[in-house]
Amino acid sequence: MPEQVERRAGELGAHWKALQGPLSEVSGIGRNFLRYLHAMDIEDVEGLLYHFPRRYLDRRRLSRIGDVRIGEDTTVVGTVRKADLNRTSRNRSVLNVAIYDGSAYMYGIWFNQPYHADRLQPGTEVAFSGKVQYRYGRLQMVNPAYDILEDAGDVGSKTVHTGRIIPLHPATQKMGAAMLRRLIMRALEQYGDLPDHIPYGLRLRYGYPHRSQALREMHFPSSAGRLNRARQRMAYDELLVMQVALAMRRQRLKLETQGIAHADPGELIRSFATSLPFRLTAAQEKAFGEISGDMSEPYPMNRMLQGEVGSGKTVVALMALLLTLENGHQGAIMAPTEVLAEQHFNSITGLLAAGLGLRVELLTGNTAAARRREILEAAGSGGLDILVGTHALIQEGVEFKSLGLIVVDEQHRFGLRQRMLLKEKGVHPDTLIMTATPIPRTLSLTLYGDLEVSVLDELPAGRAGTRTLVVGPDGRAHAYDIIREELLKGRQAFVVCPLVDASPAIEAKAAEKEARELSKVFPGSRIGLLHGQMAKAEKDRAMTDFRGGEVQLLVSTTVIEVGIDVPNATVMMVENADRFGLSQLHQLRGRVGRGEHPSHGIFVFDGETEESQRRMRAIAEIEDGFALAEADLEIRGEGSLFGTRQSGMPDMRVARLIRDFRLLKQARADAFDLVEKDPHLQDPEHLLLLQEVTKRFRENLEWLFQA
Ligand code: ADP
Ligand code: MG
Repeated sequence: MPEQVERRAGELGAHWKALQGPLSEVSGIGRNFLRYLHAMDIEDVEGLLYHFPRRYLDRRRLSRIGDVRIGEDTTVVGTVRKADLNRTSRNRSVLNVAIYDGSAYMYGIWFNQPYHADRLQPGTEVAFSGKVQYRYGRLQMVNPAYDILEDAGDVGSKTVHTGRIIPLHPATQKMGAAMLRRLIMRALEQYGDLPDHIPYGLRLRYGYPHRSQALREMHFPSSAGRLNRARQRMAYDELLVMQVALAMRRQRLKLETQGIAHADPGELIRSFATSLPFRLTAAQEKAFGEISGDMSEPYPMNRMLQGEVGSGKTVVALMALLLTLENGHQGAIMAPTEVLAEQHFNSITGLLAAGLGLRVELLTGNTAAARRREILEAAGSGGLDILVGTHALIQEGVEFKSLGLIVVDEQHRFGLRQRMLLKEKGVHPDTLIMTATPIPRTLSLTLYGDLEVSVLDELPAGRAGTRTLVVGPDGRAHAYDIIREELLKGRQAFVVCPLVDASPAIEAKAAEKEARELSKVFPGSRIGLLHGQMAKAEKDRAMTDFRGGEVQLLVSTTVIEVGIDVPNATVMMVENADRFGLSQLHQLRGRVGRGEHPSHGIFVFDGETEESQRRMRAIAEIEDGFALAEADLEIRGEGSLFGTRQSGMPDMRVARLIRDFRLLKQARADAFDLVEKDPHLQDPEHLLLLQEVTKRFRENLEWLFQA
């Protein structure tokens, strides 16, 4: 497919090639500039044209220096008239820079930062932002943030910021904003006449400007309104291209891959449902309906089942497995760790009434060789119905007689590439991915946008729930009181030690120390220890002892995060909670409150940063995992999740998922519509769009174009 794109690109060719062309073709870019631009990750003409301002200064909003108010934060623009650098000793200096705008002087003052003098030469036009002070009879700002608008030598040459809105491009010491602006202006003149990959009909529908015009407005806005339209268009553009890629992948899997068309649920499912000691929640019913609907299609299912810990995913997954059995196929369930695989095995065999007569096997690294051979043999001959194991074991290539469904239990999110690896050759089994990580809508429409999503948004009745308490280090005594009270009632508690970046060995040491200290605080209780440095058998022992109630308080590093199920545990105390992500904390508190006893999540914070405070407030106030994940995204910024390397998705230059959520939904609907009608983008009108998709996904073409 990529070759085909390449070939068809030749048909329209010129502009595409030009955009990918070397920067040296922009007039005025010589060897030095080339180096400076490369250092900024600007590699080609397109990189330059899409190097957008990081912000803008609106001249009408600026104060004249003569009109500023003392004590206020202000931005003023003027020309440097005088720059005095006084070195008082070897590494002490004071820099005084006076700017003038025709109304008055403003002084910028820097202590011990002499290097600013190089950039603020007399004649330079500059914007100062900072708090205005009045000292020694003059207006001044200490350490103002500043932006060079025009270098000293350029005054009188053709200026490119005479508009009312001044763009401020990300710049470097070597490649100043003024020069950058000039180069971009030139590139726009040279390459400004670009065709538009957004189909005309869509552009018309939303009244978006043409790409060339939008590019110009992004760099050199003629008005705030036009800039806003341009920005929206660019954001929509990015989202549309991404969604087209997702739609194409999904469409291709549908059209070109052979799957298994399962019949509707029958007797086996019904008798299983009636054998359960509880009734399915409405959310479980709905999710299973969606899953069985997908499984009945002749192409492979790619669905994600999201639900908090304890929301009943396993039951739903098991019903899907039974559906494939009912249709004469086999099923597999894969977990990220052996402990979890065992847990799945136990809960599945527990849920299956003996009467159903199914053969379920567990295959882990501990399985003895002879037993392992036996299991593999049964998988191959069809004598085995459900195989439970770890990802690694099953990826190794167990041969099934006929695998109808793979359930993948993923505690954590994973990127496009991993998702690709899970695919099998030949006839594709249906795939159901379970995740306990609440994934905000913004991400399930993007990072996971090629998957269908079912959500268990309702916990089974009879859960007593968890109260969250956030305390500072001085609240620890109170936390211990709560634990003591619970232990007296016969309940159990988890204490999670701080995350230590240094090394697992140091982390283990910290956990051991914590356990020793807690044994003094709770002298009557048995205290267990669990950390990553322990041998497997030891870990299993610790877990079994805790589950069995012989140990009342379990001190652990985050290894328990992967999920053990102990309904009698009612306290989850997390030390140094600042070091965990909000979703992680939410997962941790989800470990308790699962039984009939009201429970406590206790988070000890000692961070004082603004971010840490916001996180504390969020975890204390927000109970819903999805809302919390959104909050997390907002606090940390999206960049952390959305970088190309980790996710496989192209970078977003303009679009912001939360702010642009409405645009995202629009782009998604438009993209899926378009691809539905033209799955391979063969319509000549879609050729540019296809090129754009190929270009932005160039690092993941395989994902895009192969099943
Ligand atoms: P998850 O996999 O989402 O963490 P599980 O499927 O393991 O959740 O379910 C957690 C517990 O709740 C199990 O003991 C399970 O038997 C029980 N359970 C599942 N669905 C229901 C329901 N509808 N009503 C009551 N209990 C349920
Ligand atoms: Mg489970």
